[in-house]
This record gives sequence, structure tokens and C-alpha cells, in this order.
Amino acid sequence: MASRKVFKLGEGVLRKKSKPVVDFDENLWQLLDDMKETMYKNDGMGLAAPQVGVLRRIVVMDVNNQYYELINPEIISQEGEDIDTEGCLSVGKFKDKVRRPYKVTVRAVDRYNYPIEITGEKYFARCTCHELDHLDGILFVDKSEHGKEFLNKREGK
Ligand code: ZN
Repeated sequence: MASRKVFKLGEGVLRKKSKPVVDFDENLWQLLDDMKETMYKNDGMGLAAPQVGVLRRIVVMDVNNQYYELINPEIISQEGEDIDTEGCLSVGKFKDKVRRPYKVTVRAVDRYNYPIEITGEKYFARCTCHELDHLDGILFVDKSEHGKEFLNKREGK
């Protein structure tokens, strides 16, 4: 395993749409292991492949001391509403409140292309939504309460 560089806000790769994983081979497993190490090393709750510069639909998360690997994930149902604070390894120190569903069910496959379906509440739902947004080039500051001000300030507007 090796920790990889985390790309930061302003780098183009974070704004692109990721493609589905088609090859479930050693390259994928290496990437997953590296993403896991990178997430833990940076004290993250989740990490999406574009954050390490790979435009594939892959997410790793650690919520309530449970480690998850989600490949080609899709939210198939969501319920309720929850507003809480988020941060992101690609954004840095800025943290802000984001409205998310309270409960989601996500369908994905694991590293062996075996189908999985997980339903979770609160932080699981929040983290899943945050990480899946990365796969479509969306960052939490695009949706957060003071995100616009933050982005404008960064760009000197
Ligand atoms: Zn993030």
C-alpha cells in the first residue's frame, strides 16, 4: 500500500465526471488499498477516486468504525433531511453546513464485482452523498450554506 497525493480545490480533475469501473483486477485492488491508506493517513471519513486523480466511480469510507468500499455506487432511495457540518480533504480547513438526506440506500459492487446494497442513516447518508458527488465533479462547497462566499473569496471576486 502507498498513500497518494490528494488533489485540492482548483485542480481540474476534481470537477470532471468519473467513468464506471469495468476491470476488477489487481490495478483496482491496488488503487482501493492506496485510497484506504490515503484516507486514514489524512484522517478523512471518506475519499473518492477523483481526489487522488483517478476519474473512476470508486469511493472508500469509514463511518462509525466501519470501512466501506463502494464501486459504481448509486443512491437508489433517500428519505428525510439532515443539516450538519462537512469538510473535505480536497477543500482544506473550511467547514460548513450542508443539507443532505437523513437516510439513503446505496447500491454498488465490491472489489470483486459482487453486488452490495447498504442502507444507512445520518453520517452514513451524509458521507455517501458527499463522496458520490465527487464522482460527478461536485464539491460540498457548491451546496453548503456559505459555500458561494467561500468560493468567491478564493477567486478574489
Ligand atoms: Zn470530499
